[in-house]
Amino acid sequence: MTYKTQPEASHFIDGAYVEDTAGTPIKVIYPATGEVIATLHAATPAIIDRALTAAKKAQAGWAAMTGTERGRILRRAADLLRERNHDLSVLETYDTGKPYQETSVADATSGADALEYFGGIAASLTGEHIQLGENWVYTRREALGVCVGIGAWNYPTQIACWKAAPALACGNSMVFKPSETTPLCALKVAEILHEAGLPAGLYNVVQGMGEVGAALVTDRRVDKVSLTGSVPTGRKVYAAAAEGIKHVTMELGGKSPMIVFEDADIENAVSGAILGNFYSSGQVCSNGTRVFVHKAIKEKFLARLTERLGNAVIGDPMDPKTSFGPMVSERQMATVLGYIEKGEAEGARLVCGGKRIDREGFYLEPTVFADVTDGMTIAREEIFGPVMAVLDFEEEDDVMTRANDTEFGLAAGVFTRDLTRAHRVAARFEAGTCFINTYNDAPVEAPFGGSKMSGVGRENSRAAIEHYSQLKSVFVRMDDVEAPF
Ligand code: NDP
Repeated sequence: MTYKTQPEASHFIDGAYVEDTAGTPIKVIYPATGEVIATLHAATPAIIDRALTAAKKAQAGWAAMTGTERGRILRRAADLLRERNHDLSVLETYDTGKPYQETSVADATSGADALEYFGGIAASLTGEHIQLGENWVYTRREALGVCVGIGAWNYPTQIACWKAAPALACGNSMVFKPSETTPLCALKVAEILHEAGLPAGLYNVVQGMGEVGAALVTDRRVDKVSLTGSVPTGRKVYAAAAEGIKHVTMELGGKSPMIVFEDADIENAVSGAILGNFYSSGQVCSNGTRVFVHKAIKEKFLARLTERLGNAVIGDPMDPKTSFGPMVSERQMATVLGYIEKGEAEGARLVCGGKRIDREGFYLEPTVFADVTDGMTIAREEIFGPVMAVLDFEEEDDVMTRANDTEFGLAAGVFTRDLTRAHRVAARFEAGTCFINTYNDAPVEAPFGGSKMSGVGRENSRAAIEHYSQLKSVFVRMDDVEAPF
């Protein structure tokens, strides 16, 4: 291997790489081959303390700078990410196994968008002036303080940037813990931010498993926690944060519905279903994995879907022609195979796929089940793999009730040519992010996040500012103070 995947050290603290070999070793595995490509060490209590101390110390000076100054650094970092997109995409592919065809357009580039966007609005973050006769109130928009970011393994660069950009724009500092499965990319984000001029201590990366995340969340110096992860982890982190009344953003899992009406453009609906089930080998939180297809077009839809899945190029993720890669880990592959077995055992019809691919690495076939019913495990639980469940429906009211009958509420999509119906359905969806005749777009300009068990708070857009800053009201009296005695 010519590309250097072993980082200089495991952690990035106070502007520099830091190692502590006393921490539990973390082996980083390239999912396409199963080969160990780096060995890192989980943060020890001393490392965690060092990161939080650095973050706490640096934050006030950063918040005292002007928004223009902070924004300039973030925008410079965005430019560096774009300039180095090729190398960063290769690293993202090593970390996650996602094909270079995807990582070169969806990871460092999306991170750069976030840094550019929040860098751009940093200068215009303000409070307001509220006139009360001769007196007045003004609000100051202030930073929260030290923020902890905890990431999932599916989009390590993007998640690191989506949390860092609004946090830093608002004048906070951050300690970020990537998933132990994909620890490499956030270190590059830290390096680049510092190269762009970010003062030391403002963006720190510490490695480790859940215990490291838990230690960060409960530390008294931490003011806010932003987690991207599963609902069970979200529940634990939310509860731990509540103990210290900390601010939270929870970006959690989903089991999102996609409804394809009888008047839909079938080719577009199939494209949406492919994007919403097989991109990143199905490891995307907002995927539309319950695909409700109107009975009248179901067989046509399935036939075209199967035909197009046959065009997937499965193979070496570094080959730009490859469009479908391995699962992130052997463990995740085993979890998904378990769901496929359950689908068959509970009576769903396997239309295509269903097996591990006979080659090195953690590859699964793109899998489609039809005749899925609402109570089946594959229709209720988040699988996080390339497994699509196709369900039938005939009536709009009925399908809406079924689509919303889930504890999750991350995303939802509708394919129809009927304009009125499209907006009516979007309004009725119980989900934070909805799509009409498209699926899984996530531009930085639009709020992203979940309702119900899929989360609280929003990432991206101006909405994220509300979750990384707080308002202080300052009352100013011009006339005399009236007291009762
Ligand atoms: P997990 O919930 O297993 O882990 C998420 C992160 O939390 C990891 O870094 C993990 O560490 C850490 N963690 C685990 N336990 C604790 C704890 N008690 N305290 C603090 N931190 C802890 O999720 P996955 O990594 O398996 O990612 C997949 C999940 O993420 C899916 O459910 C998916 O839907 C969701 N997701 C949501 C997104 C959204 O924006 N809504 C986007 C992407 C993914 P470690 O794993 O290293 O032990």
